Amino acid sequence: MNLQRIRPLLPLALFILISPLLFKIRAHVKMGMTAKANAEASIAAPLDVVPDIDARLAKFKPIEMPFNRAGLSEREQKLVGKLVDAANRMEQIYWRQSDPEGLKLYVRLEKSADPLDKKVLRFMKINGSRYDLIDELRPFVGKEPLPPGRALYPRGLTQADVEKYVAAHPEQKAEIYNERSLLLRDENKMAAVPYHLAFAELLKPAAEDLREAAKLSDDPAFVKFLNLRADALLNDDYYASDLAWLDMKEPKFDLILAPYESYLDNLLGVRTSYGAAVLVRNEEESKKLAIFQKYVADLQEGLPLAKADLPSKRGHVTPMEVMDAPFRTGDLLHGYQAVADNLPNDARVHEAKGSKKIFFKNFMDARVNEVILPIARRLLREDQSGRASGNGYLAATLAHEISHELGPNYSRSAGSKKDIREAIGGDFSALEEAKADVVGLFCLKWLADHGAISKEQLDEDYISYVAGNFRTIRFGIAEPHGRGEMMEFNYMMEREAVTRDAVTGRYAVVLERKPPGTALVPPRGLQSMRFCRTI
Ligand SMILES: [Zn+2]
Repeated sequence: MNLQRIRPLLPLALFILISPLLFKIRAHVKMGMTAKANAEASIAAPLDVVPDIDARLAKFKPIEMPFNRAGLSEREQKLVGKLVDAANRMEQIYWRQSDPEGLKLYVRLEKSADPLDKKVLRFMKINGSRYDLIDELRPFVGKEPLPPGRALYPRGLTQADVEKYVAAHPEQKAEIYNERSLLLRDENKMAAVPYHLAFAELLKPAAEDLREAAKLSDDPAFVKFLNLRADALLNDDYYASDLAWLDMKEPKFDLILAPYESYLDNLLGVRTSYGAAVLVRNEEESKKLAIFQKYVADLQEGLPLAKADLPSKRGHVTPMEVMDAPFRTGDLLHGYQAVADNLPNDARVHEAKGSKKIFFKNFMDARVNEVILPIARRLLREDQSGRASGNGYLAATLAHEISHELGPNYSRSAGSKKDIREAIGGDFSALEEAKADVVGLFCLKWLADHGAISKEQLDEDYISYVAGNFRTIRFGIAEPHGRGEMMEFNYMMEREAVTRDAVTGRYAVVLERKPPGTALVPPRGLQSMRFCRTI
């Protein structure tokens, strides 16, 4: 079993989802014939491969995510190599959690030269299993439907079975719902095997990789984190290493490597799967982040709100990093490609220290270049479409993330305070996203007005933000970001901060007359949204 075909220090191809709006799905004609012609040599052909595999593959575009070694010493390159080794082992565990039968097929397909086998292999690589993530997880090879609990639970087990068992055996409840364990059933008895035992064969060498990486690092905080994370892999207690992770200050290298998310568990929604990302600091872009962090208290105090609604932000800065992620595995590799993350998820860590926001600059650039800019070229007026940029989009995104934390987190009415989620109810998430965008634009304008960024940069940020709107609105109004940006876009159109040319059908940001930041933040506009906070 070897998935280490991703060579650590070579340019890597990852896949990002590309809108079918932008790329015509290639009409598929020859699949049936190809499958027949290669029936004898092909491993996949007898297994019922979906006939439109070409069309499905065409929805994805390979993007190079090179590892830039410039400026890294030999020791640092070795350090990155060790982190990549550990990350590769997370990929191997992920497959054992996601689709162990699929993994067996994957290993066989790797050795085949048959064209259909190669296509199935590539699509398995994208999806991390035999199930299509954008076709409601239906199988694209074979007929076997996805077990809702993947390989984290015994086959055929239902949520009702678990609930009945726990009602009869309450003393086993914590074990049955343990997020870092596999659940087993033997006749009428259920038991959980902790991950550190179930996957010891891979976790032990991964811990060793981390300890060796620690020896190659000259950053004491990173060394402490790596050693504690190595311990955590071997005992499933991640708390101390999570706290150490939040203590790192402006690290040159960082690492996400843990079972953090429960996306694979559609049975109980609690069991986590392994994922990893090797992170290298993007020095230039980190400087932009530093500007925001420097002014966060002033931005808070600059909001047009009553003094009573402005809790001071002085001395409180959430850890944030702008990093390139040249290597991802497991949860972070398959399917949707995140451009930012907020970790860990443990509420005890949030209470004690908070969480860390990471911006993946190379993935953000890919989103901008491959999705946002092509949309902008179609929809924005020619003279503006070229002014949308990766840097502008990053600035708007940084401002958005910081703005989640600005303003009060309660509602005031009739002299009493109420938790903001409770006060807003079902519309909270969409309003919170809209609030983060609107306050973010306000912050960018504030920074330009106070000389922290140039007016040209502000214009670029505005245009990039509007270009981003076109992408997000496609999610529809059932999704909080789509709903929030639809509100913002309609508001800008009403205020003529964005206009549409009836002849060409193209949109323009009216920078000279009404910058959208100003138009979006009249005292009443903010008033209605002032109660939202981080979600
Ligand atoms: Zn947000």
